[in-house]
Amino acid sequence: MGKERAYTRKIQIGNRVIGGGNPVLIQSMTNTKTQDVAATTAQIKRLEKTGCDIIRCAVPDMEAALALKEIKKGIAIPLVADIHFDYRLAIAAMENGADKIRINPGNIGSKERIKPVVEVAKERNIPIRVGVNSGSLEQELLDKYQGVTAEGLCESALHKVGLIEDFGYENLVISIKSSDVLMCVKAHELLASKTDYPLHVGITESGTITSGNIKSGIGLGLILHQGIGDTIRVSLTGDPLEEIKSAKIILRTLGLREGGIEVVSCPTCGRTNIDLISLANQVEALAEEYPLDIKLAVMGCVVNGPGEAKEADLGIAGGIGEGLLFRKGEILQKLPEDQLLEGLRQELDELIV
Ligand code: SF4
Repeated sequence: MGKERAYTRKIQIGNRVIGGGNPVLIQSMTNTKTQDVAATTAQIKRLEKTGCDIIRCAVPDMEAALALKEIKKGIAIPLVADIHFDYRLAIAAMENGADKIRINPGNIGSKERIKPVVEVAKERNIPIRVGVNSGSLEQELLDKYQGVTAEGLCESALHKVGLIEDFGYENLVISIKSSDVLMCVKAHELLASKTDYPLHVGITESGTITSGNIKSGIGLGLILHQGIGDTIRVSLTGDPLEEIKSAKIILRTLGLREGGIEVVSCPTCGRTNIDLISLANQVEALAEEYPLDIKLAVMGCVVNGPGEAKEADLGIAGGIGEGLLFRKGEILQKLPEDQLLEGLRQELDELIV
């Protein structure tokens, strides 16, 4: 179990609350065209089903801002509007049902443009996420710290938060993102020591599925394990559903989330005599259908299989073209390879009733 969550103030985002010791929530971002209401709603519903707690949609133009109203009707989780440059889009997004907006005050422009955004947020009590990215750090901070640094990122974020606080609004969440994992970790440590606003944590531009998962696992792991972070996003160049699956594994591994089936499987070796790789993938997909809090073991042979299966609630140990099904270390039955998955499904069904 990680350290106690760093104390942050509670912020309400639609029907969810973050901060103040509440569970760390999982976010993702749609990659459909937001103005395509049907496609965006369908993707959000799939993400919801997989375990997404909060969804963000890009709002690049007025058509996208107006589409939020219809999208909101079809989804159950809070919707965050992601705005760059145009303050009018931020206002339109809030008027059309956004539960939170994500802006970088630096690219929204002058105080005169930030002020009306804050006023609408205040009227409707909509939180604002102030986002700072290593790619958009101000020149004076680049000069002051001789390039992009954790100190510069932190100072930039706090300065932008100050711009909104000056208008009397503190319903805020902060995010600082960098694709440099260790810099990102340091920036979060600094930020958490200087503010009690909830933090949304992510490693940006972390890459395709493999590299993104590794960088996010390390970065988010190091940050969350210190008790820092209230919402997370695993950014992957891939299907957003993969982001949710990875985020759930990261939180579960750190002891920050319970529930769900944990599938453990062996790496296979010369003793494996069944198609374990395919079986493990199928078991993982099957596990997603069951709202159970158990451990499943998928092992390639009887050398380690039964031992591992002893700790697991259910397990498979492969033989030659066949396999054994275990429940808490006890053999249930021997099945041909092509019936193992079905046998497991039946056992899972029994646990559901
Ligand atoms: S469980 Fe068996 S098949 Fe799997 S890696 Fe270990 S020895 Fe090899």
